[in-house]
Amino acid sequence: MDGAINNGNWLERLTDALPKGRVLTSPEDRAAYAYDGTWGEAWPDAVVLAHSTGDVVTVLRIADEESVPVVPRGAASGLSGGSVPEQGGIALSLTPMRKIIEISPEDLVAVVQPGVVNLDLQKAAEPYGLFFPPDPASLDVSTIGGNIAENAGGPRCLKYGVTSDYVLGLEVVIPGGEILRLGGRSIKNVTGYDLVHLFVGSEGTLGVITEAILKLLPKPPARATVSAFFDDLDVAAETVVKVVTSGILPLTTELLDRVSIGVVEDFLHLGLPRDAEAMLLIAVNGELESVRRQASEVAGVCRRQGATGVDLADTPEEEERLWKARRSVSPALGRLRPHKLGEDIAVPRSKVPEMVRRVQEISEKWGLVIPVYGHIGDGNLHPTLACDRRDPKEMERVLGAAEDIFKAAIDLGGTLSGEHGIGMLKRDYMPLALPENVIARMKAIKQVFDPHGIMNPGKVFPE
Ligand SMILES: Cc1cc2nc3c(=O)[nH]c(=O)nc-3n(C[C@H](O)[C@H](O)[C@H](O)COP(=O)(O)OP(=O)(O)OC[C@H]3O[C@@H](n4cnc5c(N)ncnc54)[C@H](O)[C@@H]3O)c2cc1C
Repeated sequence: MDGAINNGNWLERLTDALPKGRVLTSPEDRAAYAYDGTWGEAWPDAVVLAHSTGDVVTVLRIADEESVPVVPRGAASGLSGGSVPEQGGIALSLTPMRKIIEISPEDLVAVVQPGVVNLDLQKAAEPYGLFFPPDPASLDVSTIGGNIAENAGGPRCLKYGVTSDYVLGLEVVIPGGEILRLGGRSIKNVTGYDLVHLFVGSEGTLGVITEAILKLLPKPPARATVSAFFDDLDVAAETVVKVVTSGILPLTTELLDRVSIGVVEDFLHLGLPRDAEAMLLIAVNGELESVRRQASEVAGVCRRQGATGVDLADTPEEEERLWKARRSVSPALGRLRPHKLGEDIAVPRSKVPEMVRRVQEISEKWGLVIPVYGHIGDGNLHPTLACDRRDPKEMERVLGAAEDIFKAAIDLGGTLSGEHGIGMLKRDYMPLALPENVIARMKAIKQVFDPHGIMNPGKVFPE
């Protein structure tokens, strides 16, 4: 889809104010910044490659004066349409700002620019024996700015929490070009309102993150994984509860439902039991001795719960074999249908079996294949609707099923998104999840930072 170049003189002002080569307007460049990890697509009128906080200040000053939309952008791996420039304007790429400014083993912090890729931070922390716990599955491409703006999670969330738990301080630029320095590098900080965490998860709708102070942790030396199959979903969920209440806090607890197991088996022929109702993958980490003890205890709990095919892996190669099934659900679905709509609901842990059953009913009701997999320990599930988006009739069913899934999650005390954010894909469902007065307060907060509505307009809030 093409977008007309805005007629105002903002583009000329931008080009004059920024160093040469920062502003791109060729159709090829605009097309390359039109998408994210969803199937949303809209061309920006111009792309700006930010190399410094100063560049961002210039963009937000001119854009605010000229009322031009600004859509901050990291690696565009987002799964809710957040960095799609739906209303045109400026796609502001932060990826050139990829300096790791400091790693401090004394303070256990890293100071980074927003375009640093999560995996590059992990690699930089490694020689100090440290790591950054948030580990979205996209960690080899997604940026710290994007992780913060979406409050990204990952498999390690059960033990370590989400991105917001690791953000101590931020530098942000708000519309008009003002720079705010929020928080700092101390672990404790209760001086005034917690504006740092207002920006975490704000999906680029309040301002642009230009620097972050992040908390690091010492990296445990060992880990192991147990896999097990269950012929009853409730028993699988109970097993996770039994593990957690036995005094072991696993690093990761992942679930694949029967449909996911079948889809992976069709794809890889690993010999997975197609009649199993659930597969669990439970990883533990820590000191070597404690990991061995915890892993064998987890395997014991699984066996006592009646699991079959219980397997324990404590070398990276063996673990890789077990995790292959989990990692293959998404690619395996690609063989069934050309497209997929991946949902990201979260429910209380105790409601996971009921949620999976409801998705199975929804899949029958709409005649769609909907595998459910995800992070059973924190209740964040990814029912994924395989589809062909070129078929309008099928898409009607897909959207109907997606709405039913949201309603079921909310009915069970859960929510629309555990980690991917609202963006444009889920904004129309916000009134299902949040009361009107809460949405109104959120809009009022946006108004304070962004009175002219230039920051990622149209995202998060229902039309
Ligand atoms: C294969 C795959 C696996 C994934 N797995 C996970 C997962 O396990 N957990 C998870 O949470 N997510 C996951 N995601 C989703 C996605 O990777 C995350 O949301 C990630 O945090 C987005 O980072 P990004 O750099 O790609 O940001 P983008 O997609 O470019 O942007 C995301 C949002 O952040 C805003 N933004 C970006 N940078 C800034 C900035 N500097 N200042 C202000 N706003 C900004 C954008 O405007 C947009 O609204 C996955 C995606 C894929 C494709």
